[in-house]
Amino acid sequence: MQQSRFLLVDFDGLLASVRTHMRLQPAVFGVGCSSEASPLDAQKLMALLSGQEAVACRRGVFYGRNASEERAFTAAGWELSKKPALDHRSLETLLKSNLADAGVCEGRQRKTLVLATGEVSVSVLKTLEAYFQASWRVQLYCLRRSGTKMVDRLRVEHPSNFQGVYLDRFMKELLREKPKDGVASTLEPSNQDEEEQRVASADGNDRFVFMDLDSIAGTLFKSSTLYQKVLGASSARDVRLNFRALTDRTCGSDPAKVKRQVVRYAKTNPHLAQGLLALHWVLKKQSTSNAVPSHLELLTQLIATNPDGTHKTLVLVMGDGRLDAVSKGLLAVLVAMQWRIEVHAWLDSLNDVFLALQGEYPTSVVVKPLDQDLSELVYLKQTDAAAPKAVKSSEIVSATVSTPGAAPVGLTAVPERGMGLELSRLQQQMHEMQQAFAALQTSSASWKATQQSEEVERRLQLQQDEFARRLHEQEEAFDADRHELTQKARDARLKHRLALQEREEMLTCPITQCLYETPVVTVCCGKTFSKAALDGLQGRDRSCPWCRQQRGFTTHLNRDMAILVQQYKAECDAFEEEA
Ligand SMILES: [Zn+2]
Repeated sequence: MQQSRFLLVDFDGLLASVRTHMRLQPAVFGVGCSSEASPLDAQKLMALLSGQEAVACRRGVFYGRNASEERAFTAAGWELSKKPALDHRSLETLLKSNLADAGVCEGRQRKTLVLATGEVSVSVLKTLEAYFQASWRVQLYCLRRSGTKMVDRLRVEHPSNFQGVYLDRFMKELLREKPKDGVASTLEPSNQDEEEQRVASADGNDRFVFMDLDSIAGTLFKSSTLYQKVLGASSARDVRLNFRALTDRTCGSDPAKVKRQVVRYAKTNPHLAQGLLALHWVLKKQSTSNAVPSHLELLTQLIATNPDGTHKTLVLVMGDGRLDAVSKGLLAVLVAMQWRIEVHAWLDSLNDVFLALQGEYPTSVVVKPLDQDLSELVYLKQTDAAAPKAVKSSEIVSATVSTPGAAPVGLTAVPERGMGLELSRLQQQMHEMQQAFAALQTSSASWKATQQSEEVERRLQLQQDEFARRLHEQEEAFDADRHELTQKARDARLKHRLALQEREEMLTCPITQCLYETPVVTVCCGKTFSKAALDGLQGRDRSCPWCRQQRGFTTHLNRDMAILVQQYKAECDAFEEEA
């Protein structure tokens, strides 16, 4: 009978439960020993899990950032896959790919999955079912405290193919021997420095940022788990993306280093996408039927225009669920050209492409799961007034990105591999030419417009001058007329005054030299005097002052003269008023 064991370990889960186990029994394990970098001896663990059968593989998933710990496991013969985040489902991925690689048990084969882990999640349990269906045997190594429930359940469901082993009683044998003074501890800081240096060295790079908004927003709003991590959210509809935080995280702190900042979307609500404009993103709305996805365009363009990727970082803000083979190839080309690649994505939308690239090129590719900063990137929908300051209400309009169950967001028709590449290059070139042509047209059009407007302006000026000249002429003519009229009016008035004066003389009493008052006329010589003046002048003889006649001197009222005096007075008043 052909027997083989497949050793798979979730080091994070296993180490966490081991530490808890030790912390709970200080009398046995000593105080403070559980805080050591790695309590387990990788070699001894391997020996325990291997047993007497042939071992087909020894693989593990590991998130820990402690480089010396990682090195110890690797040195002991474990093949480690680095988790992008502590809670990433890397174990499930590993289990699935292991089963896919090894296949079902046929004939006299007997394959055993030896799984060592901490708590067993429901999704891991589901994955194990596939092993049972493929006629595998499964051995689960865990601590009693974290595994009892699952072990009991599996023992009942698969009595002949399952074996649960509690590590509690092997604990003392599995522990690492205490390091001699400072041997291990001196290693750790230097390794951490290395890690920090690697990250820091990329900080000054030029950044070419590309975001697939459909992937980022779509994954958040479709996920059944992400919103649960936001306090107070009861569904995905309650949460919103903080675009400013997302931009700060992906574009970095130095705007001068950002060479491109493009966001592509096809299914996302355009109102939501508009919110990115204020944060300097260049929006690219794509029709879903577009054959050449814009990230492909971007990659080919970067390769064509930036053959030397030194000090350059391509920042992809997207999952890799729908990456085609062409894109994978292009990413590898970029790495070969010394580009650094940074990926920001939700764990839900990370499949294996980016993680595999990270595993293959650990110094060039880094995956930074958005989940780690969920509290910054996602917030609970509130009234607009209470929303985070950085986010305007226009940025957070209710985003029905894509209805659940609809076709996945993203690229639909991917062209044939080689042709697609050629096609996108051509399209890119044509696009650039179109832009240049448009720019040319715009500039020549504006030149023409300038010419025309100058001509119009010149003519306008001429017209204005002519108008001013004529206006001036008319004004002068008018002034002359007015002057003449004024002169005439003055003459007329003068004549009028002279005529009045002549009349006044005729209406003046010869005694008083004033206008007649109650004019009386003498019978003797027919002369007119003001009555009071005549009465005062006459002596006792009552003779006529004009002809000296005494006998029978009589007068009577000159009514006509009285009327003439009245008319004259009225005319004089009118003349004075005119003045
Ligand atoms: Zn007289």
